[in-house]
Amino acid sequence: MSAIDDLPPLREVIARHGLMAKKALGQNFLLDLNLTSRIARASGPLEGATVVEVGPGPGGLTRALLAGGARVIAIERDARCLPALAEIAAAYPGRLEVIEGDALKVDFAALAGGAPARIVANLPYNVGTSLLTGWLTGEAWPPWYQSLTLMFQKEVAQRIVAPPGSEAYGRLGVLAGWRTSAKMVFDVAPSAFVPPPKITSTVVHLVPRAEPLACPVKWLERVTLAAFGQRRKMIRQSLKGLGRDPMPLIEAAGLDPTERAENLAIADFCRLAELAAA
Ligand code: SAM
Repeated sequence: MSAIDDLPPLREVIARHGLMAKKALGQNFLLDLNLTSRIARASGPLEGATVVEVGPGPGGLTRALLAGGARVIAIERDARCLPALAEIAAAYPGRLEVIEGDALKVDFAALAGGAPARIVANLPYNVGTSLLTGWLTGEAWPPWYQSLTLMFQKEVAQRIVAPPGSEAYGRLGVLAGWRTSAKMVFDVAPSAFVPPPKITSTVVHLVPRAEPLACPVKWLERVTLAAFGQRRKMIRQSLKGLGRDPMPLIEAAGLDPTERAENLAIADFCRLAELAAA
């Protein structure tokens, strides 16, 4: 019996419901409830919190969130997991809502229904970066969520928190650094998952900045796409990817045209985006 609730052990749940992990759905399950509790707690105090969870799977992290006192809205694409999640919902009446669907197509702000909410997820690796980019690039800011506590491959986590000048600095680092304060919380070894992935994972915690630099988000995406699309080239070359002569923009932004994208500060990208949008 687990330490955090009276539900059956996850191994038994997985066997009983035939939840063999599917690679195409990025399924690497966490069965250690001490670890899932640690991830849940990394999002902050749980009592009374509303949590949106992407990909609950058999429900290890979901159970930790509920045991900590949260209300959970979970989106799962794999219908095979729904009976296992229904058992958890029955153990926590009125506190777990499961939505069967593709998180890439969900209107998250509408889901949370205007209540303060946070996102906590052991993300499927194949869609994790797309989901994060979507959450970081909404037009409305501050966003509908209070924080994001997410598990990624370590290499992606490093890109999210990367400062300018570092090797991992790129589009993700600019977007995350512009709008949030992001930090790595702890690593999780491959052996913690069933089946074990090839790489180490890392939990990242992101808190939206109340007042990020003013910057047109769609243009910031275009500018960073062009600049980092050819990161070894000088910006006078890479920014031609914007479909126009970039020199007037670079000059107006007061930047050195021989500089490379990885050495520009987030504020430099914001200035370029403002000028490109004008
Ligand atoms: N939360 C569980 C855990 O920690 O053991 C499972 C995590 S597993 C890495 C990712 C989960 O996301 C799987 O349950 C998978 O079915 C689900 N998933 C994959 N793609 C999805 C999508 N587009 N929308 C919603 N869920 C998805």
